Amino acid sequence: MASTLAQQADEQFGITLSPEQTAQFAQYAEVLAAWNAHTNLTAITEPAAVQVRHFLDSLSIAQVVPMRSGLRLIDVGTGAGFPGLPLLIAFPHIRVTLLEATGKKVNFLDHVIAQLGLRGAQTLHARAEEAGHMPDQRAAYDLVLARAVARLPALVEYLLPLARIGGQCIAMKGDTAADEARDAARAIDLMGGRFNRIETIELPDIDEPHRLVIIDKVAHTPRTYPRKPGTPTHVPL
Ligand code: SAM
Repeated sequence: MASTLAQQADEQFGITLSPEQTAQFAQYAEVLAAWNAHTNLTAITEPAAVQVRHFLDSLSIAQVVPMRSGLRLIDVGTGAGFPGLPLLIAFPHIRVTLLEATGKKVNFLDHVIAQLGLRGAQTLHARAEEAGHMPDQRAAYDLVLARAVARLPALVEYLLPLARIGGQCIAMKGDTAADEARDAARAIDLMGGRFNRIETIELPDIDEPHRLVIIDKVAHTPRTYPRKPGTPTHVPL
């Protein structure tokens, strides 16, 4: 019989999910499937794949950062909520901002948050280049995450302005992680970051590598960054 999410979370990452949390994940999967029928949210729809590629993959962050109570986390380009929402379900005492540029995805996120009764979540309908200049967002986070949003030279311009000094950014990548990190060296330095390391994550029944690029925020980001919307991807540093 296929393993349940609770079994896999425990076996892979030592995360214990209560029956209530397991029920919240099931409800999230249901709402995702229902909305995906009319709104394009994710290409991954098969239940076992949602469990591993969306839920478990999101939880892998907890392997490298302790999800302490009160931790302030922002998920940049969260789409249908990954990795931010599974982390909040598993660790309800953290505070999560879900940043997303597409309005219909933000509507979905607001709906899921209400349905699951999640406290500690807020959505932000904006581009990362705008959020990085908002007084209540800039340098406001202990942990800044992104999965499948942009190549690292552009992505660090989205992520690092949002992290406080002493905080961390983590980009969830595949087998291009090391190459992207090398290409992003100058941008990381300009944004006040310092490359920390790349961690490899093992996931059940997944062949391709999943890697976490971990970057420390060590200095203030100059006020000129992030540049205006579109520039980080069109003219990467
Ligand atoms: N992180 C989710 C995941 O892994 O399932 C979604 C990945 S999806 C491929 C990329 C998402 O990032 C899209 O929903 C897109 O709207 C959002 N996005 C891309 N660039 C962005 C930006 N500059 N600011 C905010 N959101 C952005």
